[in-house]
Amino acid sequence: MKVIFLGSGCWQGIPAPFGCDKISQNVEWNSKDFRFRTSLHIETENGKSIIVEATPDIRLQSWKFKLKKPDAILISHWHWDHLFGLLDLDWFVENNALAVYGNSVTKKWYDERMSHVKVSFQTFESYKSFEIDNIRVTPITVNHVKDTDGLLFEDMNSGKKLAYFSDLYEIPAETLDLIENIDAIITDVTYLESNIDDDPTHLQKNQIIPFLESLNAREIILTNIGSYQNLTHENLEKKFPQYTIAYDGMSRQYL
Ligand SMILES: [Zn+2]
Repeated sequence: MKVIFLGSGCWQGIPAPFGCDKISQNVEWNSKDFRFRTSLHIETENGKSIIVEATPDIRLQSWKFKLKKPDAILISHWHWDHLFGLLDLDWFVENNALAVYGNSVTKKWYDERMSHVKVSFQTFESYKSFEIDNIRVTPITVNHVKDTDGLLFEDMNSGKKLAYFSDLYEIPAETLDLIENIDAIITDVTYLESNIDDDPTHLQKNQIIPFLESLNAREIILTNIGSYQNLTHENLEKKFPQYTIAYDGMSRQYL
């Protein structure tokens, strides 16, 4: 499988609205500091296209990265920055031709707010795997808000495994067992270097490094980055050389 990062920004992306901080004031469209909300594109060996998260940036992400219509969209949880991009697809999905996968709470939000977008919603359950082409997908519980899943991807040809955690403050033991020594972990660092410390749904600044050090993977990729970190991509790379700092357009092959 080939993975492209369609977005590496936190819930508000970078730039944040109205140039409210130094990084947002100076960011350029093609720089690594420009970040759509966190999202991935996965291409299977047979050319099937999977988008992870329907962010409110999906229209521009699909344009910037020249994506064709996906075969599936996977959604980790019901928060608006992961789900509300489905509204942009209303005119572009034929009746039930696009499969969208999410848990039952995400399905409820879809049913109540955007069911006029005629996707084929497939409800998944934590720790029950399903297959899309040659990719085995396992929703794996993380603690963020109630009913949040991470996603474990396994290329069934190569056996390579990748775990993706959009938002979290903790990984339960049952999930940790499944991601031990895998090829890559992509994880949330919303508050890596910020002083915002009143949000219990994400790891806080003083908790993130011990958490990252407890993980065991060939590559640990940090995503969900906000302008309130007040560090450019270049400075993040200098400060945390032991980790990969995601940027929009970054790609990896797991063959
Ligand atoms: Zn969230």
